[in-house]
Amino acid sequence: MSLDDFVNVLPNIGPSYSRKLEKLEIFTVKDLLWHAPKRYLDFSKTSKISRANPGDIVTIKGKVKSIINQYTRRGRNIQIAEISDQTGIITIVWFNQPYLTTQLKKGSQLSLAGEVTWFGRKKALVSPEYEIPNKSGKNMHTGRLVPIYPETSGISSKWLRSRISQAYLLNKEIIRDYLSVNLRKKLKFPDLITSLNWIHFPKTIDESELGRKRLAFDELLFLQMQSYLKKLDWGKNHSNRQFKINYSEINNFINFLPFSLTKSQKRTVDEILTDLKKDKPMNRLLEGDVGSGKTVISAIAFFASYLNGYQSVIMAPTQILAQQHYKTFNNLFKKHKIRMSLLTSSQKFSDLGRSDIFIGTHSLLQKIVEFENVGIVVIDEQHRFGVKQRSLLIRKSKNGNFVPHVLTMTATPIPRSIALTAYGDLDLSTLDELPKGRLPITTWIIPQTKRDSAYQWVKDRVLKNNDQAFVVCPLIEESDKDTMASVKAASEEYKRLGDIFSNIKIGLLHSKIKKDKKDKILDDFRKGNIKLLVSTPVVEVGIDIPGASIMVIEAAERFGLSQLHQLRGRIGRGSKKSYCLLLSEKLTPLAERRLKALQSETSGFRLSEIDLQLRGPGEVFGIRQHGFPKLKIASWRDIDLIKLSKSITQDIFVKSPKEYLKIYNMLNKYQTTLN
Ligand code: ADP
Ligand code: MG
Repeated sequence: MSLDDFVNVLPNIGPSYSRKLEKLEIFTVKDLLWHAPKRYLDFSKTSKISRANPGDIVTIKGKVKSIINQYTRRGRNIQIAEISDQTGIITIVWFNQPYLTTQLKKGSQLSLAGEVTWFGRKKALVSPEYEIPNKSGKNMHTGRLVPIYPETSGISSKWLRSRISQAYLLNKEIIRDYLSVNLRKKLKFPDLITSLNWIHFPKTIDESELGRKRLAFDELLFLQMQSYLKKLDWGKNHSNRQFKINYSEINNFINFLPFSLTKSQKRTVDEILTDLKKDKPMNRLLEGDVGSGKTVISAIAFFASYLNGYQSVIMAPTQILAQQHYKTFNNLFKKHKIRMSLLTSSQKFSDLGRSDIFIGTHSLLQKIVEFENVGIVVIDEQHRFGVKQRSLLIRKSKNGNFVPHVLTMTATPIPRSIALTAYGDLDLSTLDELPKGRLPITTWIIPQTKRDSAYQWVKDRVLKNNDQAFVVCPLIEESDKDTMASVKAASEEYKRLGDIFSNIKIGLLHSKIKKDKKDKILDDFRKGNIKLLVSTPVVEVGIDIPGASIMVIEAAERFGLSQLHQLRGRIGRGSKKSYCLLLSEKLTPLAERRLKALQSETSGFRLSEIDLQLRGPGEVFGIRQHGFPKLKIASWRDIDLIKLSKSITQDIFVKSPKEYLKIYNMLNKYQTTLN
C-alpha cells in the first residue's frame, strides 16, 4: 500500500464509502490520514457509576444487565439498557437503534461515554458513545479525547475514527518526515508521524494542538516554497528593458502634478523606480485602498518608460475604466509629447501605428506578445483578473528571454495573510493612506421602512445642494460581467426612479449600452448634467467622478464588505461632504454586523480582515474562482504561522538550495492533493 493509493485499498472501505468520502475531499489513503479533527470530546475521565453525577462528562465501564426495545407514549422508538459495575447501576438510553438489543448482549462488557443526566428519576447517559472494550484495553470512542471530524452524510466521526486508526497502523512505518531534525528542534515541532498520532489520538489537548500546528505549518510551508520558486523563476527571466532612471526629469514631472504625493505614494514610486533599474523584470503588487491614488503611480512609471524610449501598457477591467484612464493620462501628460492609444477589443494592434502608451481592457492580454517595444505592463484592479491569468501574461510575453516589468494594482485589500501566501512570489507595495483633505464619508443603514424618506432626502440634496448621486442596483450574480439579469434589474430601477425623481435628470449605465452612448452618459454625469446615475454593480470599479457625493446601494446585504467599500469609494473624492446610503431588503444578524462594520470602519484593509473573520476567505475572494489555494488544516487567520512559514522558506533556501529542493519535492508528495 502507498499513501497515494485510493482509499478503497483499505479494508472495510468499499466503493460506496469511497464515493461518500470524496465529498470530504478524501480520495487517497493520505487524504484520510490528513483529515484533521475539528474538535475533541473529552471523555478521558473514567468514573465508577456511583461517583458519576449529573452534569459530569465521563466514561463508564460496566456489564449489560438488561437491554430492551420500547415505544414511548408518543410513539418514539427507544432502547433502554441498565449497566452495572461494583458500585451501582446506571440507565442508558438510545433512540431508534433497535439493532442494539441484539448487538449488545446481556452480560457483556461495555464502555460508554457522555454526559450524565436524569432520565425520569434515574441517573442516565442519553445517546452515549459506546464500544465493546477490546483486548488491548485501548479505547477508540470512549475513555480518551475523542476526535470529532468534519463529516458528511453516511460518514460519521465514529466511522472515521476506526478507519483512520486502521490507516494509521497500516502506514505508520512508511511515513517519512521531510523536515530535518534540526529544523524540528528549532521550531519545537514533533516529527511527522507523531503529529499525525497527536491529532487523531491525543493524550492531552496540548498534544493535539501541537500536532495540528505542525501539520498546518507544513501546508503553509509548501505554498510558500512554491511561491518562492516562482519568484526565483521570474528572476531568471532577464529583462532586456533595464531602465536608466532620470531622476531630475521624473521629479520635474512629479512637481508639476496638481497635487503633492502622499508619503506612501512617494515610497511606492521609489520602490518601483528601484525595480525598474534592475536587470530583472519587476513583478510587484500595488495594494492601495480605493481613492488612494494608484493611477498616478502608474503614470510616473510610464513616464520613466517613455524617457527610456519604451512603450507602456495599462489594462483595466472594463472599457469604462479604460476610457477614464485614457482621459487621466491625457491630462497628466499634456505637457509632454506622449502618444496614447485607447484600444478596443475589436481593433488589431497592427492598425494602431506607433504609440507610447496603450490603454485597453484585460482582453489586451492576448495581444501583448505582439507589442515589440514594451517596457512595462500595468494590470489595474488585479483582483478581477485572477492569479492564473497573470501567469498567462508572463508566459505569453516571453520573447526569447524577455519579460516586461509588471505592476499589478488592486484596491481589493487582500488580507496580509493571503497576500503573503497566494501572492508570495510578488513584491508588495501598499498605499496605506488617502490623499490629504478628504472629508470622511457618512454611512447610513436604511431599513425597508425608511426607504421613501431616504429617496426624499436624496431628492432634497440634489435640488437644494446640487449634489449628484450614484444608485447601484442589487447584485444578482457574483460575476465580473453584467449579466442580462442585472442589466434588466438596472433598467427597471431606472424606470422606477424616474417616477420618484420626476424633475431630476437621471442616467442609466450598464455594460450592454453602446460605447458612444456610454461615453456621453459618463461625460454628462461628470459635467453635472446628469444628477442621478443608476448603474449595475459592475461599474463599481475605479470610476473617478469627484463631483458625486451620494452613493445609494440597493440590497446592500448582498454585497461583500470589500465590494461595498469599493462602491463607497466612488464618492468622497471632491470638496463636498459625502453620504453612503445602504438600502436593505432583509437583514440577517450576520449581514447587519457586516453593514455596521462598514458604517464604523473606513479602512479597506480593516474591512477585508473583518470580512475574512465573518465570512471566511472563500466568500470574500472567490478563492476557487481566482485560483487561491484552499487550506485544509492551516487557517488564513493564522498570520503568525504564515509569517513563520515564509521566513523558514527563505532560511532553508539561503542555507542550501539543494536541501530546499529535497524538502520541496517531498512536501509535494505529501501535499499535492490538498491543492
Ligand atoms: P485609485 O487608487 O482608487 O485608483 P485614483 O488613482 O483614481 O485612485 O485617484 C483618486 C483621485 O485622487 C483622483 O482624482 C486623483 O487625481 C486624486 N489623487 C491622487 N493622488 C493624490 C494626492 N497625492 N493628492 C490629492 N489627490 C490625489
Ligand atoms: Mg483605480
